Amino acid sequence: RAKQAGGDDVVTVLGVDAGLPGDVEQVDRSVRQAIAGDELRLVYQPIVRIQDRSVVSVEALVRWEHPRLGRLSPDRFLPGAERTGQMPALDRWVLRTACADLVTLTQRLGDAAPPSVNVNVSTRTLTTPFDETVLDVLAETGLPPDRLRLELPETADLTLLAGAHARLERLREAGVHLTLDDMGAGSTTLRHLSTLTVHGMKIDQVFVAGMLDNPRDHTVVKLLTDLGHGLQLRVTAEGVETAAQLEALAALGVEHAQGWHIGRPAPLEDLAATLTSP
Ligand code: C2E
Ligand code: MG
Ligand code: MG
Ligand code: MG
Repeated sequence: RAKQAGGDDVVTVLGVDAGLPGDVEQVDRSVRQAIAGDELRLVYQPIVRIQDRSVVSVEALVRWEHPRLGRLSPDRFLPGAERTGQMPALDRWVLRTACADLVTLTQRLGDAAPPSVNVNVSTRTLTTPFDETVLDVLAETGLPPDRLRLELPETADLTLLAGAHARLERLREAGVHLTLDDMGAGSTTLRHLSTLTVHGMKIDQVFVAGMLDNPRDHTVVKLLTDLGHGLQLRVTAEGVETAAQLEALAALGVEHAQGWHIGRPAPLEDLAATLTSP
């Protein structure tokens, strides 16, 4: 397994990548190679019910064990993959791996396995026949549809999503859960609520981070929570870093929480160990 990169290299090389189109291609070609070369990894972060701390799901988050640069986080390579149309391929790999992992974990741990897995879907993927991919992967892996939760990006604009509407409906009817990610971070997610039936929403971590110091952030968290409950959605708070934040969220009636205070994203083996230790 690749070592953690000494940050300078990563920042320099990918900083250049972000700024100069000439270098973009080199790194982006590597994204494709990363899939072919088995360099992508998933880490899993628990999502718990605040009331009793039981694990309700885990979110799959992608990492890249770059042979030269070490472990790269998504903000270093997803923008490039997005620009070059490689997100559907990446999303497909993540989906297949995450579903297979949950099946494996369930065979090993039984009831101690997480009830479901959350998988992020990118905006570009929503313009492809992703419903076919999802249903294929569920059939291939044998994961029951209601154990999969798709996280829909706030960057997806309504016209794109309108094209994807029927496909999302089809998946929902098959039993797949739909969740709006990063609620409040973009201007479009609110509008999705009027046309798309979803199961849950995740409040963006920016508001959680500020809610104890900034009354405005607290108001936004409260409003989004009330909005979610008004629409009978399960509300999850992201980026919970302290016990005090968790308490404040519980007081607002937020059901689910995710963040470093509860658990860091970890490889499958570490997750399995955590789930089986008392
Ligand atoms: P996201 O879907 O909103 O995921 C939550 C991000 O917050 C993750 O960052 C997670 O590691 C981080 N996080 C969790 N708890 C805390 C906390 O307490 N404090 C702070 N400061 N951060 C916390 P990560 O893994 O770097 O992913 C960043 C974004 O990249 C994700 O945001 C998602 O939009 C995208 N992404 C990650 N994995 C995938 C993937 O497999 N497919 C797609 N399409 N997008 C992905
Ligand atoms: Mg997410
Ligand atoms: Mg999020
Ligand atoms: Mg985010």
